[in-house]
Amino acid sequence: MAGSITALALADAGIQVLLISKGEGGTSTATRMAQGGIVYRAPEDTPESLVQDILKAGDGASLPEAARILAEEGPRAVETWLIARLKVPFDRDHGGFHLTGEAAHTHRRILHVGDRTGQAIQEALNRAVDAHPGIERLTSTTAVDLITPSHHAPDPLDHYLPERVVGVYAYIKKEKRVVRILCRAVVLATGGAGRIFRFSTNPPGATGDGYAMAYRAGARLIHMEYVQFHPTAHRLPSGQVLLITEAMRGEGAVLRTPEGQTFMDRYHPDGSLAPRDVVARAIHEEMVNHGYPYVLLDIASARTPGEIRQRFPYIHRVLLEEEGLDITREPIPVVPMAHFFCGGIKTDLWGRSTLAGLYAVGEVACNGLHGANRLASTSLLEGLVFGIRTAQAVQEDLPSLPPFPSSRIPPWEMTGEEEPDPALVHQDWRTLQWIMWNYVGVVRTGERLSRAVRDLRHLWFEVEHFYRHTLLHPRLVELRNGIQTGLLVARSALRNRSRRGVHFRKDARV
Ligand SMILES: Cc1cc2nc3c(=O)[nH]c(=O)nc-3n(C[C@H](O)[C@H](O)[C@H](O)COP(=O)(O)OP(=O)(O)OC[C@H]3O[C@@H](n4cnc5c(N)ncnc54)[C@H](O)[C@@H]3O)c2cc1C
Repeated sequence: MAGSITALALADAGIQVLLISKGEGGTSTATRMAQGGIVYRAPEDTPESLVQDILKAGDGASLPEAARILAEEGPRAVETWLIARLKVPFDRDHGGFHLTGEAAHTHRRILHVGDRTGQAIQEALNRAVDAHPGIERLTSTTAVDLITPSHHAPDPLDHYLPERVVGVYAYIKKEKRVVRILCRAVVLATGGAGRIFRFSTNPPGATGDGYAMAYRAGARLIHMEYVQFHPTAHRLPSGQVLLITEAMRGEGAVLRTPEGQTFMDRYHPDGSLAPRDVVARAIHEEMVNHGYPYVLLDIASARTPGEIRQRFPYIHRVLLEEEGLDITREPIPVVPMAHFFCGGIKTDLWGRSTLAGLYAVGEVACNGLHGANRLASTSLLEGLVFGIRTAQAVQEDLPSLPPFPSSRIPPWEMTGEEEPDPALVHQDWRTLQWIMWNYVGVVRTGERLSRAVRDLRHLWFEVEHFYRHTLLHPRLVELRNGIQTGLLVARSALRNRSRRGVHFRKDARV
């Protein structure tokens, strides 16, 4: 969402855009996976009401100005871009749009396309991007590092120039080589990093590349500790993740240990109906304390088979077809999963990072909107509204960002000759994901976090060595970025001794 919108808005303004993505072009994005929908506006709604909902969810850490921009500019952007231009087929009802509600929204203000909103939006974006003559597309290409004169120029005098990003090194998978791409502005729209945790709802490419690249280039990142977890998700045999809607607990489903005992009453007076963060923490505690691989969500004891099939047709069908699990008779194994990064590359309200020539937008950016906890269905809208704004900022800034001479930046030098050993890459990923899950996950303590930082540092040294002595490979680039992002999250979480939003420090000074 964020990258395509920024690219389209820039190309509309006559600026030549190169859109790089490491997937096959919009096939493996978080945008495609979004289910619930995108915030629009209810008939009796006001921008102020949405602002208040965002600020409340953000737990005192959302920037009111960012929330106001989203609330005021959002509905128009949805109309102009998604409805009129991209023709996203949002569900309709009695002639108007069908609006749905979600947790913590005071109004039913969410547009959706069934429960596959993201897919419909992504497909419309892909068509528009492909058809635009001003956008060149490079798919299956992984951005490896941002280029700055102070890091990459061989001439020491160039190191004294004001800090600025002047391009990227990118690995083209088909050609197995790294190209040097010099440009006047770089917009990072690389999405989140959920995959650095053992359990995540995110697509495989959500490995934190953008955070790590920006950090290495010297940009400021903030609020990396605010990682939102979805309480109930299920892993299908295919490896795909199925979100189990919170509405299921609303319809009476109860959480149980794998032995069949209820446990939520020990954590909250509302039992399985406790708020989402409480439920996520309780499941996590049960798993960590007892070594459970999952807990069970039991709707079969609460509702008749007919009621279940009628109320949850999609979940019922997918589980039955993909793994023969009949939720009218059996409970569903669930775990909380890392879902969304509220923090990221610090930007102003126009997508400008702290480095000249570098912009960030979408989940990878932190303009203050989500504070310490994101309000549901605001992130697609964030990509849209702030994508448009970022394009405007780039356009305004270009006169002060002249092209940097390519003769002063060397081509990428390949080191190492051997392809990385997949066993090492696989195990290092597992190590990272388990460290993040157990020590930097839903429930945190100073002791767990310091241990995480020490373990991650060790892993970092190992992987740096591996990286420097092996032929460059996208999986290795991702692993290195994942570990660096993990360290950023763990260090921020260790430093922040308070308990706020999704950052739950058991040992907080409350
Ligand atoms: C299962 C699920 C359900 C969700 N439901 C909703 C919802 O209903 N409503 C809502 O508002 N939000 C929802 N979200 C959150 C929302 O989908 C994301 O926050 C949002 O789509 C992020 O958009 P983005 O453009 O920033 O990143 P993405 O859509 O993830 O795109 C990132 C792009 O960057 C590319 N990339 C990454 N690293 C590199 C690299 N090194 N080189 C080249 N390319 C790279 C990726 O390949 C990808 O193309 C959901 C998220 C998930 C996972």
